[in-house]
Amino acid sequence: KQLIYKNQELEQFAFIASHDLQEPLRTVISFTQLLEEQYKGKLDEDADKYISFITQASTRMSELIKGLLDYSGIGSEKQPEKVDCNETVKLVLEDLGTRIKESNTRIEIERLPSINTCPTLLKQLFQNLISNAIKFSKKDTQPVINIAAQKEDEHWKFSFTDNGIGIADKYKEKIFVIFQRLHLRNEYDGTGIGLAHCKKIVELHGGNIWVESTPNEGSTFYFTIPT
Ligand code: ADP
Repeated sequence: KQLIYKNQELEQFAFIASHDLQEPLRTVISFTQLLEEQYKGKLDEDADKYISFITQASTRMSELIKGLLDYSGIGSEKQPEKVDCNETVKLVLEDLGTRIKESNTRIEIERLPSINTCPTLLKQLFQNLISNAIKFSKKDTQPVINIAAQKEDEHWKFSFTDNGIGIADKYKEKIFVIFQRLHLRNEYDGTGIGLAHCKKIVELHGGNIWVESTPNEGSTFYFTIPT
């Protein structure tokens, strides 16, 4: 009970802190934009550079705060309903259409079950795993993603397999922690929130999530959802 209480308190803190941080940040962003519009080229080169650094950093901070806000909001959704996972994958693939086309990704989907869940959470979970599989693909190889599920005892075990850059053993747990990333942003863009979201969504359903991977060969993200 104490643990549940502490967790609720922490989530509330994250929500309030991120919500309240947004307002002053919006002010910083809009005044920096004004400064840029009215003074670009009128001060010296350094000043233009500093203004552009402030814009980049505050935009990034805004993305992180939005991620934190979304993260703390997971779990406040409506009652679960029966959702056909095949339909959810279809929706995600439509949303990611341009990226799939541009990266020439091949996606193999095996027959997936229907489960009791909140449709938006399931979509978010699939979207994060599929977009990571595209993003962390090897530069010179066509990305191939396999999505499957099989029934085991009391749960469905889903797998999202890619042939991407892989993850070293020592990072296999760290990547599920919020804001933890293994690359610089100029290598791979991102906020480090996606997998923390996935973990929270899966655990909310009473399941587990983990990764098995070989660096430079690919990764399989597994998660379970009780039947
Ligand atoms: P982001 O994608 O914004 O960096 P995530 O929380 O989704 O944040 O992922 C955390 C880190 O886990 C990534 O920065 C990356 O290093 C690693 N990762 C996630 N998915 C994959 C994948 N399919 N292949 C290789 N590395 C991955």
